[in-house]
Amino acid sequence: KPNARVLKDVIRTIPDYPKPGIMFRDITTLLGDAWAFRRAVDELVQPYAGAKVDKVAGIEARGFILGGAVAHQLSAGFVPIRKKGKLPHETVRVSYLLEYGEDEMEMHADALVKGERVILVDDLIATGGTALGAVELLRRLGAEVVAACFVIDLPDLGGAEKLRAAGVDVRTLLAFE
Ligand code: 5GP
Repeated sequence: KPNARVLKDVIRTIPDYPKPGIMFRDITTLLGDAWAFRRAVDELVQPYAGAKVDKVAGIEARGFILGGAVAHQLSAGFVPIRKKGKLPHETVRVSYLLEYGEDEMEMHADALVKGERVILVDDLIATGGTALGAVELLRRLGAEVVAACFVIDLPDLGGAEKLRAAGVDVRTLLAFE
């Protein structure tokens, strides 16, 4: 079907954002397209339909939008993983590696119960530093991380491989070189 729509075509690329040399993959164009938003969420949840999933954890900020929709679709709860200092109650905190430097993120300490089955959601995986930090937080609270789901993979940066090496089932919908 030469005219079939594909998700990849709905993602906008912004050269030199936020720094020279970086090709930023902008998913706001996907979120704003009714067909593409539904299609992305449907594809993300497809392997887990019918599976027992207690919570979906979304990474600030684009992981909130996709993760909220995924949680609703799976009839699961939603848990935000945020930059440090944003959550009002007692938190657990992890520092994680960025391409240059490091940062910290947090979850509420009572956001999940030991043994709960959790799916992690973010828009994109690059080096994997962010997702590995999130998995560490979830596991520290005793979660069973069922899978980590991303719309976009940047395979050259190796993040998905690192997550798989950490024992996480990784699902991505499309890739950019
Ligand atoms: P990583 O920690 O895997 O190197 O980077 C992934 C994190 O940075 C994700 O939270 C993702 O939202 C953000 N990120 C890095 N590069 C891009 C990009 O090109 N587009 C978008 N939408 N997010 C990016």
